[in-house]
Amino acid sequence: MAVTRTIELKTEIPGPRSREIGERIARAVAKPLALTFPIVAESGRGATLTDVDGNTFIDFTGGVGSLNVGHSHPDVVAAAHEQLDRFSHTDFTIVPYELYVALAERLAERVPIGGPVKAAFFNAGTEAVENAVKFARAYTGRPAVIAFEGAFHGRTLLSLSLTSKVHPYKAGLGPFAPEVYRVPFPNAYRGISAADALAALERTFTTTVAAETVAAIVLEPVQGEGGFIVAPREFVAGVRKVCDKHGIVFVADEVQTGFGRTGRFFAIEHSGVEPDLICVAKSIANGLPLSGVLGKAEIMDAPVAGGVGGTYVGNPVAQAAALAVLDVIDDEGLVERSNTIGEIIRARMLAWQERWPAIGDVRGLGSMLAIELVADPATAKPAKALANRVTEAALQRGLLLITCGVYGNCIRVLVPLVIADAELEEALGAWEEALEAVLA
Ligand code: PLP
Repeated sequence: MAVTRTIELKTEIPGPRSREIGERIARAVAKPLALTFPIVAESGRGATLTDVDGNTFIDFTGGVGSLNVGHSHPDVVAAAHEQLDRFSHTDFTIVPYELYVALAERLAERVPIGGPVKAAFFNAGTEAVENAVKFARAYTGRPAVIAFEGAFHGRTLLSLSLTSKVHPYKAGLGPFAPEVYRVPFPNAYRGISAADALAALERTFTTTVAAETVAAIVLEPVQGEGGFIVAPREFVAGVRKVCDKHGIVFVADEVQTGFGRTGRFFAIEHSGVEPDLICVAKSIANGLPLSGVLGKAEIMDAPVAGGVGGTYVGNPVAQAAALAVLDVIDDEGLVERSNTIGEIIRARMLAWQERWPAIGDVRGLGSMLAIELVADPATAKPAKALANRVTEAALQRGLLLITCGVYGNCIRVLVPLVIADAELEEALGAWEEALEAVLA
């Protein structure tokens, strides 16, 4: 077992100060903003988070995938400070600033899309998705959008309509936006092949919606909230073909998968397929609210002037941070690092799977990895309570882990890619102890 060097637990978890603030949260904050952890953050650095009681944890949640370059990376902090001292807001569409175009140019160089590429920036991932649909609708003059079972695209009306997890996201919150159609996503573990899913997509044009009325197909190259399910190459290629055949805009939602998480800068690169539009958010600005749509210029130029916008269409402080993030990713070789730590984590997960039948599946790309917990490997019956017990046992050992999956029974890795080897070893040791405590 690794000698503990980073994790330091000084009080019971949660400690007294976290509990006290937790009581104030219960009184002052709306209940649906349900807390995953009972600890309260004080400071973060790299892959570690320290709470208000002085306990230090290794953070495998990374702000739900927003911290690929780590908590408070000094270069990102410096860039954001410097910009904050200059100005913090104008509304780009009222008085533009150079940072915006610099970021658009740098991202255009990165996207796996041939030909002229343009960008538009927003704040949250949900806005990127909603605006991607606007671009696609304006370009095609069509209303319908196709999304997949298990998808997660956000929580505002259109993106929530595209999202496919009923509890807790959708139940009781309708009616949803019209002209959204749902088809299966391949899931090897649950017996849905790429061919099955492509056949269902083709069938839907006969049974459900006319292909010539579909503006966009929105796809996560690796489903995030849906359980870290990787879209097979042949599936992504098949969706591209369908889009080409029917003049449909292919939107890759890379909000969770982008910025090196999967061992490529964008996850869609694993398939060799060019999408038409890419949605980005989360790790783009290391946790400062920034999102964007990047894509083919002719599609991005389709809405009328003023048809896309808002007071906050690319905050300059967040964009200064985003430019620093791009430098850090390159300077520190974090895309490659994602593969290296991914191999270490996957090997460990596969060893756990050998040992414990409750680990039904191990999957993902690069460092975007998850284990799926089941009551019985023969039936693959989801074991959500077991997954929650493991994350709770990990918390008590100083490791922050979160679940995902439509059944809530997967435990995922969204660790900052800057994690040191020794920290990674220590974190995996804590995870293994948690599994031993729950599954033995
Ligand atoms: N798209 C994907 C793939 C996501 O994972 C998320 C959030 O988890 C979103 C969209 C929505 O992003 P946001 O929560 O920033 O609105």
